Amino acid sequence: MIDYQSVLNAINEAASKEKERGKIADYIPELAKVDVNNFGIHLIDNHQNNFFAGDSNELFSIQSISKVLTLSMALGLIGEDVWKRVDVEPSGDPFNHLSLLELENGIPRNPLINPGAIVIADILVSQLKNPKEDFLSFVRQIANDDTIDYDETVALSEKKTGFRNFAAANLLKSYKNLNNDVDAVLDFYFHQCSLSMNCEQLTHAFYMFMNHGKCRKNKAYLTLSQVKRINAIMLTCGFYDEAGEFAFEVGLPGKSGVGGGIVALLPNKFCVATWSPGLNPKGNSKLGMLALEKLTTETELSIF
Ligand code: GLU
Repeated sequence: MIDYQSVLNAINEAASKEKERGKIADYIPELAKVDVNNFGIHLIDNHQNNFFAGDSNELFSIQSISKVLTLSMALGLIGEDVWKRVDVEPSGDPFNHLSLLELENGIPRNPLINPGAIVIADILVSQLKNPKEDFLSFVRQIANDDTIDYDETVALSEKKTGFRNFAAANLLKSYKNLNNDVDAVLDFYFHQCSLSMNCEQLTHAFYMFMNHGKCRKNKAYLTLSQVKRINAIMLTCGFYDEAGEFAFEVGLPGKSGVGGGIVALLPNKFCVATWSPGLNPKGNSKLGMLALEKLTTETELSIF
């Protein structure tokens, strides 16, 4: 039996001593207000035991981590047709939110870069009666937590400064890979990114990716094949242009966001989330990556 709690305590202790904590994302003004000294980690194992350390209960903006959840909902709604509108190849580009060069004939390279996520948002806006409400209730259901909510201030802050996402959406529209109004799709996209969650809630929402598509209440939301696809995309595309480095150092499928969160999982074993808002030059949480590297090294558990 692995003593996860001791490992998390040691990780938290090491994180608290770290002087170089990375740089907070400030291109969304609201995110710049967060204290760089935060660090939290939460792990849930396959028996639903929970272990945690540090600021694991502090809410933060999950940002790009939401792209895995919208992709999951879209796959549940239209199945494999998703892949007609977005590809599944990793992006080798530097941390670059525009990523327009990733577009080929209007098909974004993968669903976890911004243009790909905007296409997924368009699918949900088409499919759902009340897109923002329905997506929020999907997230609350899979996490089994009704307190999860959007942060309207963050959504508005990004709307005011999201010029590159407006450019990407307009380009997609010109390629006819966006069926709804740019404003409606981006309003949805900025809200999904503004979801405010803590490390515990993230591991609960992502539990199904390590548990064959079933949430903690054993309800199936995804098929085995869909889980395989999503985990593969997280491994190859989940960390901007540092996915190779993350696989190399940590060895788990996962997803990061510019709010400083990272969620990662080992199928059949555990799901873990870290939060530390200082980012490395590639846009991934600096201490989060170090923490997860330590976790898989100390426990000798990774997909490899
Ligand atoms: N809302 C952010 C954006 O579109 C998400 C970025 C991220 O976390 O990678 O710029």
